[in-house]
Amino acid sequence: MSQDTGVAFRQATIDLDALRSNFAILREAVAPSVVMAVVKADAYGHGAALVAPALAESGADWLGVADLGEALALRAAGITTPLLAWLHGPSTAFAPAVDAGIDIGVSSLDQLERAAAAGRAAVQLKVDSGLSRNGIAPAERAAVFERAAALQRSGDIRVRGIFSHLSNTSAVDDARQKQVFERAVAEARAAGLDPELRHLASTQASLEQPSFRFDMVRIGIGLYGLPAANSVDVAALGLRPVMQLEARVAAVRRVPAGTGVSYGYTHRTEHETTLALVPLGYADGVPRAASSRAEVSINGRRCPVVGRIAMDQFLVDVGEGAARVGDRVVLWGDPADGAQSAEDWAAAADTIGYEIVTRVGPRVPRVAR
Ligand SMILES: *Cc1c(COP(=O)(O)O)cnc(C)c1O
Repeated sequence: MSQDTGVAFRQATIDLDALRSNFAILREAVAPSVVMAVVKADAYGHGAALVAPALAESGADWLGVADLGEALALRAAGITTPLLAWLHGPSTAFAPAVDAGIDIGVSSLDQLERAAAAGRAAVQLKVDSGLSRNGIAPAERAAVFERAAALQRSGDIRVRGIFSHLSNTSAVDDARQKQVFERAVAEARAAGLDPELRHLASTQASLEQPSFRFDMVRIGIGLYGLPAANSVDVAALGLRPVMQLEARVAAVRRVPAGTGVSYGYTHRTEHETTLALVPLGYADGVPRAASSRAEVSINGRRCPVVGRIAMDQFLVDVGEGAARVGDRVVLWGDPADGAQSAEDWAAAADTIGYEIVTRVGPRVPRVAR
């Protein structure tokens, strides 16, 4: 297998220049808000070990993750940027977070008590303003705020922030959530709290609704150069996709008309053609639902995926075009380079770009470009 362009058998090429440029564009767009860069789920599949240091160096004020395990891994990797983790199991230990200087997002009275018991935790109160997931339930809000104020007075915790998360359903629904959030902030103040960081908006609202930015915004998908919703034109903003998923053609075969292709023969060749084997499958995050629906680029030429995408491999029909073992195949990347986007694959698999990049599996090395 040729290694001349440096692309391995399979790899996700991570364009750190694009990441840094996206960060700078987004920071400018939301100024003067503080920016939390969201790097949960291994930086949306891009590799937190590559992405988090680049964002820290670019000046991200905060990094956000879902679990404490993710936050602790970042600290272990030497990341010293302020960190917030907001989703916890019923028995997650909070003391390691306190020791590592990680803020704990608190969604219940139970979590508040456990954070206080861990000793002088810095917490940010997560309020459910209408998403109905985690976040302090409306009925528990008064009790949590009162208890948090008492624990802060006794020096057992520090309430640094208050936040919530939007459903991105419609402008009307988001405005309703914003009202609930503002009411919750007022209630927290009335209870004697004075959280310095109020935050509500993720990528979509940060870009589309300036009044939703409060003190800080939490930006995830935009950093990776993908849209939060179809309404956000990321390319017009100058954002570029950070991930390019690519591989080397593993086999090439000339086949006659009527040849059954891959499991279940969901595709049969209509005429004599050339098939190329791509060594990536659903174990690597290539969605099986995109079987016979997506396209790849080989030597810059679009070729359709034919037949079922299997665990480790799939076939494309290169027709009469040239393809050799070792040629570079791009599944998704930057449309400006002629590649399909993660959004194109999402459309082929009836999902969203977030899921396409986040599911790239552990067999695929993330290689910084
Ligand atoms: C994932 C997440 C974000 C980032 O959302 P994007 O749409 O990727 O910008 C922000 N806040 C919370 C609470 C999240 O879970």
